Amino acid sequence: MRSKHSVLYNIPPIGIGTMEVECLTSYIARIAYAHCVETGTLINEILIPEIKGEGIYKEESIFAIYRGGTSKFNGLSVAADKNANIMNRLCGRDDLENLTIIKYKNILNDNKLLKKNKSWCPYCLADMKEVQYEKLIWSIMEVDICHIHNVKLEETCRKCGALQNHLKFKTLNGFCQKCSHWLGNIEKVQHGGNESNSKKVFIIGNLLKDTRNHDLITNEYMIKNLILLWDLIPSPKREFVENNIGVQGKLLSDFQRGLKDKISLSSLIRLCTFFNCSTNDILDRLMDISFELLIKNEKLVFKNTKRKLDIVKLEKELIEYLNSCEKDEKNYLSINELEKKIGHVGSTIKKYFPVLYENIKKQNTESREKLKKEKQKERMELIRQETIKLYQSGIYPSLRRVFSKLPFVVTGFEKEYRDMWEATIIELGIARRVNQYD
Ligand SMILES: [Zn+2]
Ligand SMILES: [Zn+2]
Repeated sequence: MRSKHSVLYNIPPIGIGTMEVECLTSYIARIAYAHCVETGTLINEILIPEIKGEGIYKEESIFAIYRGGTSKFNGLSVAADKNANIMNRLCGRDDLENLTIIKYKNILNDNKLLKKNKSWCPYCLADMKEVQYEKLIWSIMEVDICHIHNVKLEETCRKCGALQNHLKFKTLNGFCQKCSHWLGNIEKVQHGGNESNSKKVFIIGNLLKDTRNHDLITNEYMIKNLILLWDLIPSPKREFVENNIGVQGKLLSDFQRGLKDKISLSSLIRLCTFFNCSTNDILDRLMDISFELLIKNEKLVFKNTKRKLDIVKLEKELIEYLNSCEKDEKNYLSINELEKKIGHVGSTIKKYFPVLYENIKKQNTESREKLKKEKQKERMELIRQETIKLYQSGIYPSLRRVFSKLPFVVTGFEKEYRDMWEATIIELGIARRVNQYD
């Protein structure tokens, strides 16, 4: 089982890529167990010397971290990062950061992120026949139910009532750290929460099952989406944010002003709930956000109508449109008509493809000017022909008479039309009357 170069057994972690993924502290306890040593021995003899070697902590901090602060090992702190790396190195693996939330360190702050003590679902423990392990999702503060069994998670030993640390020196997964009582007792388990509670857990589960390298998850899209949302929401904006999304009024404006670049997990969940979307929708792509005004119980209510923005498809459609216009000017649409054709508002097009948008606008204006000129040319020709026609039928082609024959209304003040008429009169060699406009 010991791999060629690793110091410790290379035991596969459980559930990577699923909501049931194991947490790092559970893995550390399992590794100690597999080596037939207490977790404390593994910590004292291997982890602490390793972390000392990194030279980033003072002696007393190291003591504090491994005695009291082990819940942080499953989060996004330096302690999580270092311990995942050390364990990767010692076990000859490269995937143990998936047992933490490190990959979201550019997105999430640690405000109310992790529970201080362990919690667990007794049913899940009872279901784990061969290997007792603890799930990463149980360590998240927002999670208080099991999404599989819909029961409340427990956090004290049924026998002695003790709270459980994430890593204690005598840690054995699934057993009380004080009295060694098994924690998988399913008698008198409390029923879980309502639907919104379980929705929340699935949103979190979606984050945890993501196995991309954490370096790849940047806050770029989240910030853009939040700024866009702030731009679009109706005034008074802070009030709207608090009443409709349920996050702090200044959260979004702080992003817009560049004062913030991370979000708390609970705010991220509220945004997902508001948009009825997954965290990926907010973190991985630009959202197409628009609002629909509804009247509900005689009150105005804003409802977001979410449309997924396929940025690649939109760009392709815009380029195709521009190309078709270059081939045939008759294909030009107004921005309004284009919005209907493409299915996205002009501000979206402008936001993501400013150059294309300006191109479309420019070509639009040019083609409209051109069409206007062509139309004018046609009208001038009509004036000329009507003047000649009247003259040839023996009627004096006065300006008023000519204009009355036209299929469009001329007020008589358009100079270019008058000039055309005069030029035709001169061409025909007709003497001008004194009151030539009669
Ligand atoms: Zn369960
Ligand atoms: Zn106990």
